[in-house]
Amino acid sequence: MESQIAAARLAQPGRSLARTALIIGASTGYGLASRIAAAWGYGARTLGVFFERPPDEEKTATAGYYNTVALAKQAKRDGLFAAHLNGDAFSDECKREAMELIRRELAPLDLVVYSLASPKRTHPRTGVVHSSALKPIGAPFSSRTIDLDSRKVVDVTLAPATDKEIADTVAVMGGEDWRMWMDALASEGLLAPGVRSVAYSYIGPELTWPVYRDGTIGRAKQDLDRTAKALDATLAAKFGGRALVSVNKAVVTQASAAIPVVPLYLSLLLKVMRAKGIEEKPIDQILRLFADFLADGLHLDDDGRIRLDDLEMRADVQAEVAALWPRVTTENLLEISDFAEFQKEFRGLFGFEVEGVDYDRPVETDLELAPL
Ligand code: NAD
Repeated sequence: MESQIAAARLAQPGRSLARTALIIGASTGYGLASRIAAAWGYGARTLGVFFERPPDEEKTATAGYYNTVALAKQAKRDGLFAAHLNGDAFSDECKREAMELIRRELAPLDLVVYSLASPKRTHPRTGVVHSSALKPIGAPFSSRTIDLDSRKVVDVTLAPATDKEIADTVAVMGGEDWRMWMDALASEGLLAPGVRSVAYSYIGPELTWPVYRDGTIGRAKQDLDRTAKALDATLAAKFGGRALVSVNKAVVTQASAAIPVVPLYLSLLLKVMRAKGIEEKPIDQILRLFADFLADGLHLDDDGRIRLDDLEMRADVQAEVAALWPRVTTENLLEISDFAEFQKEFRGLFGFEVEGVDYDRPVETDLELAPL
């Protein structure tokens, strides 16, 4: 996290993007990077909403909890206002608590980032628990992938999703909850003139399409696109604001590592992009997003989305990944892919193998996180 803060500090925005920002899904991955970019890059007062397990007598906390403890400490040192809400963002109760906190400490909001990645959602109106499935649609999909436990390249066949699994995935990862947050914020009068909101998506190359773009998660992302269009119109009419989807590059996070085929793709992508000197981490992507998001001539694709995956999708990058893909075996995995870097980054998400950390020194794990 310190390296992300250092990168954000170096960003020198020409004008203020946001004095206040709400980040939903703020403790890891793209949401954490968004919070760091808003706070340390732009001096914004932030509220981070996330769902993490605090420590108890038997277990240490989850990684995102410790990330936020560290962020809170650093924010205090740097005189930045940072509030935290650890709860289920899908619930009415969490939204209510957030509204109260925003009204007291932050309103009006200039920026709302929606960066949730969750395996399930309890619907606040029906009480139904929806579980997302990462599956193809219509036909089974066979591909190679890395078995992360045995570190072997194996073939995997994924059965197609049922209609219920498709609908459940849309309920969890589609746009309905983003819309509920924005409607609640608008009706409570907590949005500033010119407010901007962004939610994150992914498209990726053809070799992942059966399990991503054309699979259950892709359906959810289509729903997110539709939500963005409707929200964009509402925010423009009411606040002169904008709501957009940003298509980000594939990066190593807890959410992406859980998608079949993606760890192998990421290992190859890391190899190719690092060799070309164009690899970006979440903080690089988000600093670029915020700088562009401000620009008057914001460039959008034909479907009205921001594209931060331009370097990943560059023809030469994808041609090299595609050429390596059929050649990968368990034996040459470390040689022709950057699986070693993938593993290092994956362990780094949980605080392991982080440069500069003395792992022989005892650390306190029973840390408290105050809301402010
Ligand atoms: P992540 O797993 O690192 O982060 C998920 C965040 O959501 C965490 O802060 C977690 O605490 C929070 N969260 C989960 N359930 C919650 C709940 N019920 N209530 C409150 N908070 C909850 O995921 P990520 O990879 O950063 O993904 C964030 C978004 O970015 C997703 O929409 C994802 O599709 C998108 N995206 C990811 C990638 C990638 O390669 N990782 C690429 C492009 C787009």
